[in-house]
Amino acid sequence: MKITNVVTEVYRWKRDKPIRNGMYVYAEAGLNVVKIETDEGITGIGLGGGMTDDGRVFQAIGEQFKPIVVGQDPLQNEKIWDNLWQPKLIGRRGLTTRVISAIDNALWDVKGKAANMPVYKLLGGFSDSVPVYIAGGYYEEGKGLKDLADEMTESVSIGAKAVKMKIGGAPINEDVERVRVVREAIGPDIDLMVDANAAYRHYDAIKIAKKMEPYDVFWFEEPVNPDDYQGHKLVSQSTSIPISTGENEYTRYGFRDLIEGRCVSILQPDPLIMGGITEIQKVAAMAHAHDLPISPHGNQDIGVHVVAGVPNGLTVEYYRASTDPMYDLWCKEPLRVDDGVVHPPERPGLGIELNDEALKDLRVG
Ligand SMILES: [Mg+2]
Repeated sequence: MKITNVVTEVYRWKRDKPIRNGMYVYAEAGLNVVKIETDEGITGIGLGGGMTDDGRVFQAIGEQFKPIVVGQDPLQNEKIWDNLWQPKLIGRRGLTTRVISAIDNALWDVKGKAANMPVYKLLGGFSDSVPVYIAGGYYEEGKGLKDLADEMTESVSIGAKAVKMKIGGAPINEDVERVRVVREAIGPDIDLMVDANAAYRHYDAIKIAKKMEPYDVFWFEEPVNPDDYQGHKLVSQSTSIPISTGENEYTRYGFRDLIEGRCVSILQPDPLIMGGITEIQKVAAMAHAHDLPISPHGNQDIGVHVVAGVPNGLTVEYYRASTDPMYDLWCKEPLRVDDGVVHPPERPGLGIELNDEALKDLRVG
């Protein structure tokens, strides 16, 4: 099989209301898509991360990579990854690696379709049912404690047994009160994650961690700057709450340093950001050798295959319509939360089918 074309498609849409975490405001959402076309009629669909720009850089890097990919055998994902990585001329991490991720994910879709098998089975097929948590709890204009508690209990009512909320965007005591109110609303048996999106210096992260300990927090995500490995370690050693990180980390090299340094308890590589499924497999194996779980950040449609495929997949992140109102529209077969779990699709490949009709007016590149 030969790759005949690489197509980059960028979609953006406005949110009804901007949402905010500890660091950023998001007024838009979107999709960065790479399609790999082949001479055997199979087209692979891959997604790549990077919604904070208008997509032009993503597309330009995609064009830059096209001549390296066209003509190759799509089943040689390791070779293609290496070919894309070797030049390192336009940046090793950052957006370059996000585009490599999208290409690589599309190659896995081709591989699954060629093998007539879902990707999670190609990855090892550890389980066809994996725990899921609903991410939300953002800050919004006019959103009070009751609105936050209502959002979280609504996530529980649609089947979640774990929910995540933002911290780091308000004074420490105010955030601790938000955590207390949510814990009280969801009761003692639902897991509660908190995510600071790197908003703290390590000493404030330690301060809020101590204050949150009575509320049985499942993990405290990205307490400090992603480059502050020692800061992660200091926070980890100062609290009984497990610390997690990884959505802003890249490649096996970045995760190697986090793992070898014993900086966190839970790793959150994002297959749309850190290098794609080829690379996340290596991180999962490295983590497994240290008895550490991985819980991929971001998109649920690819995350579910990773968590289901490997032995140390902890839980899948899931965004419902309150956070991404377009999900049920752009995705023809959206994943559904079912009594605390999600099931990877049994369709060949990643099982992602874009709804071109819903997306046609939202294409920006
Ligand atoms: Mg996060």
